[in-house]
Amino acid sequence: MNYRFHSDHPFNQERVRLTMDLLKHSGALSNTQMIGYSACPESFIEQVHTSAYIQAVKKASQQPSSNWLDYGIGTEDTPSFPEMHQASSFICGGSLIGADRVMNSQARALHLAGGLHHAHPGKASGFCIYNDAAVAIAYLRKQYDAKVLYIDTDVHHGDGVQWMFYSDPQVCTFSIHETGKYLFPGTGYVHERGEGQGFGFSVNLPLEPFTEDESWLECFSEVLERTAGFFKPDVIVSQHGCDAHALDPLSHMHCSMDIYLQMPKIIRSAADHWCNGRWLALGGGGYDIYRVVPRAWSMLWMVMSEHPMVQQVSSHAHLPQAWIEAVQPRSPHALPVSWLDAKSAWAPMPRRKEITENNRKTKQLSMMYL
Ligand SMILES: [Zn+2]
Repeated sequence: MNYRFHSDHPFNQERVRLTMDLLKHSGALSNTQMIGYSACPESFIEQVHTSAYIQAVKKASQQPSSNWLDYGIGTEDTPSFPEMHQASSFICGGSLIGADRVMNSQARALHLAGGLHHAHPGKASGFCIYNDAAVAIAYLRKQYDAKVLYIDTDVHHGDGVQWMFYSDPQVCTFSIHETGKYLFPGTGYVHERGEGQGFGFSVNLPLEPFTEDESWLECFSEVLERTAGFFKPDVIVSQHGCDAHALDPLSHMHCSMDIYLQMPKIIRSAADHWCNGRWLALGGGGYDIYRVVPRAWSMLWMVMSEHPMVQQVSSHAHLPQAWIEAVQPRSPHALPVSWLDAKSAWAPMPRRKEITENNRKTKQLSMMYL
């Protein structure tokens, strides 16, 4: 909760608390399912970030107003804030303990504060300071010699993680996102396939703006199946930014809550098939923190924990009234009443056929070497 740039910044971890409250009101989260964690030791962060950068983050934590632009700190997207080193180290610590749990007890683990996929070795970027996803992946490589499939479902390209493992054939990165032609960070094209020994182990699926559920799910499921079959991972690390939803203010996709119910099921079945169930899931973007994120992340947890609520959610069950009443006064918009969106009330999307066809072409290109 201390990872907070300032009160007007769109990245707001209040969404994690809202999600936990929604799960508790739904009877889908118990205290025994939660584990505490501490800050990540610096030596693990150094596996993916340069020491010069870590020093800069530490100094910016002490003197937030000074100039650290060479390290991407102090921009409009990623301003400095007090104790940013400590807060970012904590987030890495959560992803690290999740990785350990997954490998040691073959459990699934979810760390919603994590998924800060844009951070680069020597530079903060796109609201991300330390790349906890990359820290966890580097740890899984080093500690367990595991082949890691990274699946990034955030609407923005998972650039930081991709570039950090671009030449590593033991880490395969697969990112589905809105095309970088129109959206930050402007990368994630199909031709970014890895380099050297790592060629073929970077898979990108850049979709058209205004893509809807059916096309998104068709592309995601087919490319993931081919990627997993080609790579045969030991463990899956997935990133769950839920900013491809139509209501998200920072992107142009037009998906509904349906993808956030179906997509975790697709990942779970890949983890069961290839990895003996080993699956670490992380949070990510998501900027409609009242109407979108709590529902999407709660459904992710229900699917991961195989909670019976999933059946009710699938048949358009209502959200718990007590949660709506508690949260509505804080939300600037009317909250939805059901888990899934009432899509029949949405205006039909023009150019649906053209968007679907273009996405199919991209899908074929992305699988060219799989
Ligand atoms: Zn995002």
